[in-house]
Amino acid sequence: MNGMTKKTLKLSGGCHCRAVRFVATVHSPAAVQSCNCSMCRMCGFQHLIVPASRFELLKGKGALRTYRFESNTAQHLFCCHCGVKSFYIPRSNPDGFSLNVRCLDGLEGLEINCSEFDGRNWSDNAHALKHLSDDSAGQGQV
Ligand SMILES: [Zn+2]
Repeated sequence: MNGMTKKTLKLSGGCHCRAVRFVATVHSPAAVQSCNCSMCRMCGFQHLIVPASRFELLKGKGALRTYRFESNTAQHLFCCHCGVKSFYIPRSNPDGFSLNVRCLDGLEGLEINCSEFDGRNWSDNAHALKHLSDDSAGQGQV
């Protein structure tokens, strides 16, 4: 934790056309995953997983469409107008949300610890993400 200040930030974000907007409370430094699964490698999604209690959808519920594949557990939520997936409900953390760091309005004050997540071997690795949506633990901390 050398030189890193632990803090809590309220960050806003959403899709490209701004039909979908959200705010989330995140801890800094934040654990962020870059994933190589069949979905994430295509869209470049950068995961910041938060407990459901720390996420609020401000608008756009009616604009969201859901794409599912394989286990059909994850709900890949994308805007029906602009196609951007700014957040979704991940298979690893169905009790939380994964925010797309690329869709946050600004990263001011947010310290990011980015790691590679081997989503191609999902079942071997998903357990490592479990704690990120746990509201009682130091979620988002590394
Ligand atoms: Zn949109």
